[in-house]
Amino acid sequence: MFVSVAIDLALDKLFTYSVPEEYKEKLLVGQLLRVSFSHRITRGFALALYKEMPPELKNLDPSKIKPIIGIEDESPFFSEAGLKLVKWIASYTASPIETALRTALPASVLKPSMKPKEMLFVEVVSKPKSQEKLTSRQQELYDNIKRVGGGWLSQVTREFKTAISTLRNLEEKGYLSIQTHVSRRDPLARRNIIPTKPLTLNSMQAKALETISSSKKPVLLCGVTGSGKTEVYLQAISREIEEGRGAIVLVPEISLTPQTVRRFAGRFGNKVAVLHSALSDGERYDEWHRIRTGEARVVVGPRSAVFAPIRNLGLIVVDEEHDNSYKQDETPRYNARDVAVVRAMYENAKVVLGSATPSLESWYNMQIGKYELSSLPLRAAGQSMPSVHVVNLEEEIQKLGHVPIFSSVLIDAIYDRISKGEQSILFLNRRGFSRVMQCPACGWQAECPNCSVTYTYHKVDQCLRCHICGKWEHIPKICPSCQSTTFDFTGIGTQRAEDALKACFKGARILRMDADSTSRKYSHEDILDKFRTGKADILLGTQMITKGLDFPNVTLVGVLNADTSLNMPDPRASERTYQLLAQVSGRAGRAQKPGKVIIQTFSPDEPAISYISSNKDFKSFAEEELRSRKSAYLPPYCKMARIVFRSQSQELVESWSSLYAESLKSYAKKANEQTKNLEKPFLVGDAVESPLSKADKYFRYHIIMRAGSALMMTNAYNWIKSLRPPPDDVRISYDVDALTLM
Ligand code: ADP
Ligand code: ZN
Ligand code: ZN
Repeated sequence: MFVSVAIDLALDKLFTYSVPEEYKEKLLVGQLLRVSFSHRITRGFALALYKEMPPELKNLDPSKIKPIIGIEDESPFFSEAGLKLVKWIASYTASPIETALRTALPASVLKPSMKPKEMLFVEVVSKPKSQEKLTSRQQELYDNIKRVGGGWLSQVTREFKTAISTLRNLEEKGYLSIQTHVSRRDPLARRNIIPTKPLTLNSMQAKALETISSSKKPVLLCGVTGSGKTEVYLQAISREIEEGRGAIVLVPEISLTPQTVRRFAGRFGNKVAVLHSALSDGERYDEWHRIRTGEARVVVGPRSAVFAPIRNLGLIVVDEEHDNSYKQDETPRYNARDVAVVRAMYENAKVVLGSATPSLESWYNMQIGKYELSSLPLRAAGQSMPSVHVVNLEEEIQKLGHVPIFSSVLIDAIYDRISKGEQSILFLNRRGFSRVMQCPACGWQAECPNCSVTYTYHKVDQCLRCHICGKWEHIPKICPSCQSTTFDFTGIGTQRAEDALKACFKGARILRMDADSTSRKYSHEDILDKFRTGKADILLGTQMITKGLDFPNVTLVGVLNADTSLNMPDPRASERTYQLLAQVSGRAGRAQKPGKVIIQTFSPDEPAISYISSNKDFKSFAEEELRSRKSAYLPPYCKMARIVFRSQSQELVESWSSLYAESLKSYAKKANEQTKNLEKPFLVGDAVESPLSKADKYFRYHIIMRAGSALMMTNAYNWIKSLRPPPDDVRISYDVDALTLM
């Protein structure tokens, strides 16, 4: 018997070991094994078992094959379906299998030092055998412990102000039993979870629930913000649990707020496990094991929770399915939404992709019949959608002579809200104070020496910061190029907008939320709690404030500059802008009071903005945008992959990227001749500097490929990479279904 093992060192190769007699019965795929590898003992996962020598090793001497040394843990870390999923990811993203395995398992689960937490627990022996008399103080202590039903040793000593020796004494006399118990490290321990009951669904929600329960295809749940998608998820999950199945709910990391977690824990209590990046190693270890043993039946988490070892999986929910954070930006570059669909297929589970503004990929999949559509076009509690007003910044310049941070329409609206005791949210997708520090005399701009971007001026600590590599410097006193001593600061960041707000609205209570104001643990929650409880009039922030937050008293949302995301060098810029604006607008008028959205922009006629402002539905925007994607042969009408080359030497990065581009072009030419697929050809772009041409001292070039299938491009990439492996000082990465072209 033989086993092929993926060794935990990213060698991108499987190794075959023989299986000694003593392990033959116990060995299962998915187990973690101990094996020797180049004179060291290391660990690896069993990926496949063979009764005989695998064919590709037939001419090897079987006695030369080393035996495995042992099995680390008899219960497999991966189910067969789980392994199949990991293999799919490795091949789809052209990544080493070990890297994919490691991504699918929390690091703390594999740490040899990590164990369940054990603590001493005091239990009362109800009928003590010995008849030894207790002193009155001992009797009182015994009665007290009995009354509360025992407890952790540390709790008991604290609560009843007693010493461990006293308790041990009672144990010796046979009145108490003190033993180690496993103590769960519970991420929700200190949260006040209020149980909730299912709401009566409105007719559209009921229809959506039926579609989810009965559809054989993935369901695309397209529902405007506030339409009650979450309630539909909750009830769909209840149905699964009643049938003995489990569920996974994926949420973008940024919306994994206590508010979200409470909604699931409130309905399913202890059956919920939470997995997110802020957990301690111990908490994550315990949650993962609670899922594996079946104690937890519902998992709520970000991207990586798609791998949660839920047994008998019934449903995967992907909320905000269009969200970019589902795509991992390191190897393996998988998209959890797509992995969810594949996993559901392998395990015969249902899958719901929910969003107010689905990705055009999912919308297209629905149009071609791969997914089934279910719509919630109205808000659940009957509130109207907010009215949208667009301010053309071009006209403001003509009126005022400069670009205002806040147009007069927006200022009036904010005043109005403050006077009525209502709240406003202002959105600006740029942290820091100003974008650029510039010398008006010679045109010099403060730039990061490591990256091809300008520094951002941060007023609070008077420094220049690079938002790519994190490098910072004090602001220079004189211009390094012409020695002039005055500078201009152009562009607006959240810090500058905050100053302007304070100057404009004296006495208004303002909160700022961005990466700088939320660097402390819990500061994110603190800011939102303050706002929710009415301790501020205005919440000003970046992307962070746009998602999932439900504040009933917010009746105004202002977008200070809608163009920042529109002007990105990216084929999805328009789609992103639409999604962003729809999300931000969804924050207004969630309760009974009607909401208003004011969008400031230089491009009011761009579809992403005009469709929002004329309150057209997502479908009409999607159709317009799909037409232009189709004519330009862009996703979803093709698959797109990107190869990025990085090196500290510009020469090397240039020569290697053009070598790859030339080879891939001739490969594609042949492939096109063979397949004769004129509608969906394989196209390879030139090797060019990527828009972010230098980051953290590395020069960056890229090649963009498009084809009818991802497999075609992945094969081409694998071919060239093994034919021409790059030298150590050139790093190449492959990003299939790339979402960013920076
Ligand atoms: P979404 O997830 O689509 O943004 P939510 O599920 O958060 O929407 O619902 C928005 C609001 O409507 C919430 O306050 C929720 O409690 C309420 N709601 C949802 N469904 C119903 C219903 N059937 N009846 C009454 N209120 C509902
Ligand atoms: Zn930098
Ligand atoms: Zn100068």
